[in-house]
Amino acid sequence: MEITLTILLTAAIVSLFWWISNRSAKDKSASIAEDLSTMRQQLQKTWTEMEHHRDAVFDAMAEGVLLCDLSGKILFWNRACRRLFNLPENPLDGMTLLEALRLHEVLEVFERTLEKGRTMGVELKPRGGASLHLMLNAVVVDHSSGKPDSVLLIFHDLTQLRELENARRDFVANVSHELRTPLSMIKGFVETVMDHPEMDLETRVNFLGKVQKHSDRLSLLIEDLLTISKLESGQATVNLQDVHLRGEVARVLSDLERGAQAKQMRVNLDIANDIRVKVDVDLLDQIIINLVDNAIKYGRQGGRVEVKANRNGNDQVCIGIADDGPGIPPESLDRIFERFFRVDKARSRSQGGTGLGLSIVKHIAQALGGRVWVESELGHGTTFFFTLKRSDALSSQTELQLDKHLHAASSARE
Ligand code: ADP
Repeated sequence: MEITLTILLTAAIVSLFWWISNRSAKDKSASIAEDLSTMRQQLQKTWTEMEHHRDAVFDAMAEGVLLCDLSGKILFWNRACRRLFNLPENPLDGMTLLEALRLHEVLEVFERTLEKGRTMGVELKPRGGASLHLMLNAVVVDHSSGKPDSVLLIFHDLTQLRELENARRDFVANVSHELRTPLSMIKGFVETVMDHPEMDLETRVNFLGKVQKHSDRLSLLIEDLLTISKLESGQATVNLQDVHLRGEVARVLSDLERGAQAKQMRVNLDIANDIRVKVDVDLLDQIIINLVDNAIKYGRQGGRVEVKANRNGNDQVCIGIADDGPGIPPESLDRIFERFFRVDKARSRSQGGTGLGLSIVKHIAQALGGRVWVESELGHGTTFFFTLKRSDALSSQTELQLDKHLHAASSARE
């Protein structure tokens, strides 16, 4: 009996110990699980923040960035890459480089990079993106274990740079051509006169007249080129003065009268007497001379030129120079202010044009704080408009006071 009691007591004590130790193990593992879950949540949060920062950094980059795994499946692309290739926000699951960009050149770069570790400075001109010009660099990215893990492709957009280079190259080619033409004419006439001492006086004078005409054209071109370069580099001095618009335009028109008379054209001036503008007089004169001279040159024999001005809003005046000539074809209107652009090259040259007049007008209008544009209808004529700042405009404070005064006066009358 005593033995049985001892056994039972021992069993009870062992069970109690087992229960207590089991319970504390359970408590411990529950608290470990809780700690683990908190850590997992923190890890997840840190990971999401890191991803967010990574996206923000990549999206702030001007270069297009694209990351693929070693089989060419896309893992990530940034905002600039989406914009360059017109891609959706995120790559579809399992989407390949070729499926996304549809550019075999990029796939070739990817494969070469897998072989060699990196490919630098490959220039691409994707056919779809009209004038898109890209440079691609690609590198293999290693895993922390040191094994290749993915391929990073970086696209630099060179479109603007190439456009500027092309414009500069075209400009130099145009300038050389424009300078060479009158120079070779001058050279030709002078050589002919020198090689033929027996030449009669009349032919000689005729030839010398041509030499004079071409040297005038040459100096006009050089003058226009200097003006353009000063205006484009922002070196032109702008001396703003308060000017009586009608008086100044009338003075310039009187200088152009001879040209108009030679084509039996009438030039009408319709500008109110009290409009005053804030301009540099020399620059304003250049705008008027270029636009009215063009209207006469390209206008029709016996036609009309109208010079008008209208107050535009509070502080601007819009000046229009209209002719009833043959007009400008719609497809040329967008290019008319480009350097050396002419609708009819032969006609412009025969009239002594340099092809720089309208480009100069555009730059001057901008330098004076205004803008210039053109409206034209084939067979009916052309009107060039430009805006200037008025100096006769009431200050907004004065206008406000005047408004209040008029309002008070009309309320008193009621
Ligand atoms: P240009 O020295 O050839 O006159 P501009 O820059 O002044 O150069 O003008 C560029 C071209 O625009 C001209 O060659 C001409 O073809 C066209 N143009 C300019 N003004 C007129 C106009 N009023 N009517 C028709 N065409 C015009």
